[in-house]
Amino acid sequence: MKPVALPTPDTREWFDRIDLGRLTVPRCRDCGSFFLYPRSSCPRCGGRSIELVDAAGTATLLSFVVNQRGPEGFEPPYALAIVQLAEGPRMLAGIATTDPAELEIDVPLRAVFEERGDRKVLYFEPEVAQK
Ligand SMILES: [Zn+2]
Repeated sequence: MKPVALPTPDTREWFDRIDLGRLTVPRCRDCGSFFLYPRSSCPRCGGRSIELVDAAGTATLLSFVVNQRGPEGFEPPYALAIVQLAEGPRMLAGIATTDPAELEIDVPLRAVFEERGDRKVLYFEPEVAQK
C-alpha cells in the first residue's frame, strides 16, 4: 500500500482532521497569520496560541513535476506539485489527474482526499476538467 504520513505531536491534530476529510490551516491568534506546516508556534511572531481554521479547499498550481517512474503503489505518470492555498500558505501535494501532461501553471485546484486504509491523504485536482 502507498505510505501515509506519520504525524508528530505538532501535526497530529491537523492530520486527524485530514482523516475526517477536512482541510484546515493553522492560524496564529496573536497576529492572524496563516501558515503551513502545522507547528506549535507562529513562524511570523512566535505566538503560541494557534488554531486550526477550516480552509476553503481551493488552491492554485504554482509548480509541478510529472514523475514517469515511481515507488510501489504509485501509477506513473503522476504529478507532485507546490500549491498555494486560498488562505496563502504553500504546500507540497499530489495532483489527482488522469493526464498530468495537460496540467498548466496557475490552474485553480480543489482539495480531494484519497482513502488509504483507515487514513486519508490530501490531494488536489483541477477545478475544471482538463481539455
Ligand atoms: Zn503570529
